[in-house]
Amino acid sequence: MSNYKIETKCIQSGWKPEKGEPRVLPIYQSTTFKYDTTEEMGKLFALEENGYFYTRLQNPTNDAVASKIADLEGGIAAMLTSSGQAANFYAVFNICEAGDHIVSAASIYGGTYNLFGTTLKKLGIDCTFVDADAPAEEIAKAFRPNTKVLFAETIANPALVVLDIEKFAKLAHDHEVPLIVDNTFATPVNCRPFEWGADIVTHSTTKYMDGHAMQVGGAIVDSGNFDWMAYGDKYHGLTKPDESYHGVVYAEKFGKAAYIQKATAQLMRDLGSIPSPMNCFLLNVGLETLPLRVERHCSNAQKTAEFLDAHEKVSYVNYAGLPGDKYYELAKKYMPDGTCGVISFELKGGRETAVKFMDSLKMAAIVTHVADARTSVLHPASHTHRQMNDQQLAEAGVSPGLIRLSVGIENIEDIIADLAQALDNVE
Ligand SMILES: *Cc1c(COP(=O)(O)O)cnc(C)c1O
Repeated sequence: MSNYKIETKCIQSGWKPEKGEPRVLPIYQSTTFKYDTTEEMGKLFALEENGYFYTRLQNPTNDAVASKIADLEGGIAAMLTSSGQAANFYAVFNICEAGDHIVSAASIYGGTYNLFGTTLKKLGIDCTFVDADAPAEEIAKAFRPNTKVLFAETIANPALVVLDIEKFAKLAHDHEVPLIVDNTFATPVNCRPFEWGADIVTHSTTKYMDGHAMQVGGAIVDSGNFDWMAYGDKYHGLTKPDESYHGVVYAEKFGKAAYIQKATAQLMRDLGSIPSPMNCFLLNVGLETLPLRVERHCSNAQKTAEFLDAHEKVSYVNYAGLPGDKYYELAKKYMPDGTCGVISFELKGGRETAVKFMDSLKMAAIVTHVADARTSVLHPASHTHRQMNDQQLAEAGVSPGLIRLSVGIENIEDIIADLAQALDNVE
């Protein structure tokens, strides 16, 4: 980990060219790597020496970007995956197996909710969802003797719930499990969960990290702080011999780097959701400007939230930067420089008005994406939550008139002018 400030790390961390090597991170678009002797390659397979041999396991382009992201979060190692979904799956599956249980905040990304509530169940891993705003004593009741992980998002997508990270870290550690935090929306520019006690951080790099909607990707970063050996029986995948890797004990051989080593040597080997070197290159280009973009996303979102909040046709706005917001104080503590560019709000006219408003927008585009340079909108009742009736929508906390707005980095006057003309067009 370097001592540079975050803006410098975004530019300088990761790829470190030697004399005569390319200044810009090269795209090692190669599946394989060449060796001169059988013995040399054998040592790589034995995990005795570090080196590249097959891109499913490791690739120099991917590794440079992984180490930049590890540095941004203040972690000791990271692994990139082909999507944010794969990152959250691997992060949990690396330390859980059939018969285990996890506890997760309920207000999380829909894809992660399905992964935990449905797909992990098919693998024999049970999940209890908790209200992240509930008192610690209440959440504590969800833990069982076989609980292995506590999971939450720094800023929940799309509910925009801001996590009390210290409360969650204490709950996790009181129950002798690591806290995994999905830090996609805040990004390490605005919040570094390890500084508040989280043990593992995940990302959908598809969002702000890329920032241009060019690649789907994910990352897992380990702080190296969770002491697997202290709970050796519980985390036996890390503390007992891995028979599929000639008996290696990850926590002994790799110490603090054990978690990412196991994820790479075992899960990536067997499940294989590796990102392409080309996508990692694009992600790296995005990372270089992350602090500039995040700052603009946040200041634009703040002004947009204030505009909407003061508008007579808007019934309410969810944005933690607004002093009246339920999460204003938590955001001030954990993200003093800003939260993210995503806002949700409801129009007084309900469902029909929301649809008419969206169809009246001229610049903001209707897309199933958030957190890229272009301002975009989504109507959950017509899109992500379309299969639900009004009562189910109410239970999911999505009112029929709710609109999710991802504020881009265009000029704020143009963004507000577009919203204003669309609002003029509805009742
Ligand atoms: C988008 C998203 C994911 C899933 O990531 P993909 O890259 O789309 O697979 C996970 N968590 C959060 C918070 C997200 O916003």
